[in-house]
Order: sequence, then C-alpha cells, then structure tokens
Amino acid sequence: SAPSALFLSHESCVYGYSHSIREAKTQDGEGTFTGKTFPTLDPRTGEVIAHVAEGDAEDIDRAVVAARQAFDEGPWPKMTAYERSRILLRFADLVEKHSDELAALETWDNGKPHEQAAKAEIPMFARLFHYYAGWADKIHGLTVPADGNYHHQILHEPIGVAGQIIPWNFPLVMFAWKVGPALATGNTIVLKSAEQTPLTALYAAKLLHEAGLPPGVLNVVSGYGPTAGAALASHMDVDKLAFTGSTETGKIVLEMAAKSNLKPVTLELGGKSPFIVCEDADVDKAVELAHFALFFNQGQCCCAGSRTFVHEKIYDEFLEKAKARAIRRTVGDPFKRGIEQGPQIDLEQFDKILRYIRSGIESNATLECGGERLGSNGYFIQPTVFSNVQDDMLIAQDEIFGPVQSILKFKDLKEVISRANKTRYGLAAGVFTQNIDTANTLSRALRVGTVWINCFDVFDAAIPFGGYKMSGQGRERGIYSLNNYLQVKAVVTPLKDSAW
Ligand code: NAD
Repeated sequence: SAPSALFLSHESCVYGYSHSIREAKTQDGEGTFTGKTFPTLDPRTGEVIAHVAEGDAEDIDRAVVAARQAFDEGPWPKMTAYERSRILLRFADLVEKHSDELAALETWDNGKPHEQAAKAEIPMFARLFHYYAGWADKIHGLTVPADGNYHHQILHEPIGVAGQIIPWNFPLVMFAWKVGPALATGNTIVLKSAEQTPLTALYAAKLLHEAGLPPGVLNVVSGYGPTAGAALASHMDVDKLAFTGSTETGKIVLEMAAKSNLKPVTLELGGKSPFIVCEDADVDKAVELAHFALFFNQGQCCCAGSRTFVHEKIYDEFLEKAKARAIRRTVGDPFKRGIEQGPQIDLEQFDKILRYIRSGIESNATLECGGERLGSNGYFIQPTVFSNVQDDMLIAQDEIFGPVQSILKFKDLKEVISRANKTRYGLAAGVFTQNIDTANTLSRALRVGTVWINCFDVFDAAIPFGGYKMSGQGRERGIYSLNNYLQVKAVVTPLKDSAW
C-alpha cells in the first residue's frame, strides 16, 4: 500500500524536535533508497544542526508512485470538497498551536530573525492554509448555453500528481504557496524542499498528517537540485511542475519538463526590482521604506527593492539618511530580541555577495558603508550601501540576494520608467510619491507583476504574485493560483430532442 506520506528523514539530532523529525520516515520505516544523508547547517556558525536523509532519483520515483496511487485510488480527490477543506483548516489550526516550534526551526535552519519568523511568517503560513481551505468547496465549473441542442458542461478537475520545488529564503511560506492550492483543488504532491532548509517542510508535513491528510497525498523529499529536483522535473508521471528559485534553474527545469512529458510549469524566479523615490516624497519615510524593501530577510527576497532610484532634487539628503539607517541596522544572532538582520543562508551565497560588493567597488560605484563580513563566525555581512550606481554595472543588473543597497539618481519620470524597465526581470516595483497622477503613471508603465505604492512587501493570501519577463511564468496566491492545479474538461451531451 502507499506509504503514509513519504517523509524522508532519519537519524536527526534536532534537540527538542528530535521526536518529530525521527518520526518523519516512511510508514514502513524505510529510509532513503541509498541510505545517504546530508547535513543541514546553522548559518550563525556553520555547524551541523541535523543529518537529513538524502532523497535521490529512486526516492522521487517511489514518492511519485505513492502520489499516483493516492490520486488514482486514494480517497483524496474522491473525498467531498468539504472534507478536504476541514483537513486544511485543522492543519492551519495545528500550525498556530505549534507556531513556537515552527518559528524556532525556521530561524535555526535559515538564520532569519526569530521575531520575523514568529510574528510574520508563521501567522502568514497559517493564514495561507485558512485561505486555501476556504477555496476547497468553492471550486466548480460552468454550464454554457452554446449553439445546438446540447448540454455543455465545463468541469474543473484536479490535474493529478503535482511536483513542487521550493527555495530556502522563505521555506514555510513557499511551501504554503505551492501545497495550499494543490491540496485545495484535490491534487497529490511530491515536494522537494531546498537542501539548505529541509527541516520545517518535514515538520509541516508531519502536522498535515496529524490533521488527517490521507497516506500518499503529500510526499516531502529532502535532497539536492541536480539529483532529486531534476528527477522530479523530468519525471514522466508527474502531471504539473511548480518551481521557485533562480532564473538559471528555472530554465533548466522548464527544459526538463518539455523534454520529458510536456508537463505544464509555473515559475517564480529572480528579480531586480526598482524602488522609485519621487521628488515630492517625505524623505525620512522614503528612506525607511527603501531600507526595508532591500534589507528585509537579509536581502534574500526575490522581489527585493534592489535598485533604489532617487530623484536628483532629494538625492543628497536621501543618501546621507539611507547610509545612516544602514549603519544603525542591528545585525547579529537572529534568536536575540531586536535583531533586524541575521546571517546569510550559506557559504556559497555569502561568497557570492562579497564578490558582488568587490565588483561594485571595481566598477567605481561609491561604497558608502559596509562592504565586509561581520565577525569571524557564520555568514554575517555588514549592511552595505553603494551610491553613484550606473545602470550597466553588474550590481545594478544581477540579483545579488544580499544586504547590498544600490542607489541611482534620476531626473524625470520618463527617464526613470525606461531605466527601471531596462532589466531582464519584472517581478515587482516600489513607488514613493504623494502625487496620485505620478503613482498611476508609474504603476501602469512598469512591466512588473506587483507595484507597491508607498508601501513594500505587503503580502496577502488573496493577492496574486508572479513575474513579467524572466521573473517567471504564471501567478501564485489568490484565485489565479487555483488554475495552476486544475484541468478543464468539456462534456457535451445531446438533449432529448436533439438532431439524433
Ligand atoms: P536554485 O534555483 O539553485 O534552487 C532553488 C531550488 O531548485 C532548490 O530546491 C534546489 O535544490 C532546486 N534545484 C537546483 N538545481 C536544480 C536542478 N538542476 N533541477 C531541479 N531542481 C534544482 O537557487 P539557490 O541556489 O537556492 O539560490 C541561487 C539564486 O537563486 C539566489 O542567489 C537567488 O538569485 C535565486 N533565488 C531566488 C528565489 C526566489 O524566491 N525567486 C529564492 C531563492 C533563490
């Protein structure tokens, strides 16, 4: 029989949570096919938190078999929508009950400030499942008065087995964006978590199981991208793929999907979002918001406001204040109260960010503050501000994914629109102005999936998120995300006195 959700993890030594993580095995007690494990590290120190079972191609295959069986024979797609909704609601309630453990694990594995995890991300995680639980029994098709004497029904059906690959920057929120709509619409899932942050996906899967999710419906596989991730993207029996991560990997998985069984793919990829501060802005407020837009989550946000465009009339004042704000930013142990910035996720990202900082200096941007690692332990980087940044510099073109603010000067709206759009990305933008006409002009001219006016990083379960251009394909969250997991079937039946 299908294993009870294939949670592949064993021999973990997570203090306080060892019970849950050890339990996270296949129902029949099996480990991975190869028996290999990989360490997950504490970014504060680089020390090992736990050894997690390393899923490989064979494990993906076993997980897909379990998901297929649960879809074809299992109760999930056949349950009433109301029953599915109840399970998702129970899960969201369990998340609230276990929010302390989830927040602690998230901070430990990822390095993000605990206050942020506890006050924003875990509540958002629960909220997303409450939201999707509400959709489960409100998904229905149409009947259409088409030509002829026929009854035309349009059915909305679950797509089947969904493959999902998520990144490390918001492990739980990314889990919810993918798992929530897939379950609400009646699909079964194989999810590969990011190798840097495998712990909370396992914990969440255990809670879903506790909430009553039937065996085989959600299969979480911990493992690496080129092995487990690639096996999932190219699997012939996976009906849909959803991916969040870098644009480079997005291209690879899209190709794998095309070369295998042409499974439809949704992609949420990188960004280089402009944050535009207009001449009428309240400078103090604009400085604070631009700082938040870039430095939130250690700068590790796909939508980070990583090109701060400032009108020339207020540029000097803005720069002085932005620099002072970055110097004031509190960096340190993310478990300590009042800490705004923890360590970067791992050595690879840490080195990459420091390389970009060197590139900024070499290309003659002005380093206003920061630019170095902080301390000698773990992956901490000083909040860094560059001024005098030009559009063609690498730091203005590439996604740095770190605490590095690039400030650029502009003269007029037409110019800033053209420069803001001159990037391969199109995920988000921030606009800071008191003028409604300027706000309207910019929000329509910017080729991005989200425009935040006088705010930034405002996320809601009901509002779609996704990118233009090379920032992705499709939308997650909100009503739009349901279509990613639905097939549309037309059923045509002659009416009694039809031509037949
Ligand atoms: P990545 O794209 O390499 O990894 C994201 C996910 O894809 C992970 O689960 C990973 O294991 C998997 N993966 C990697 N290679 C794969 C492959 N060949 N086949 C299938 N799956 C594969 O991103 P990363 O290494 O975590 O970070 C690198 C860069 O990605 C960052 O610097 C940043 O620019 C970007 N990033 C973007 C987001 C986002 O939310 N858009 C999130 C994390 C990282």
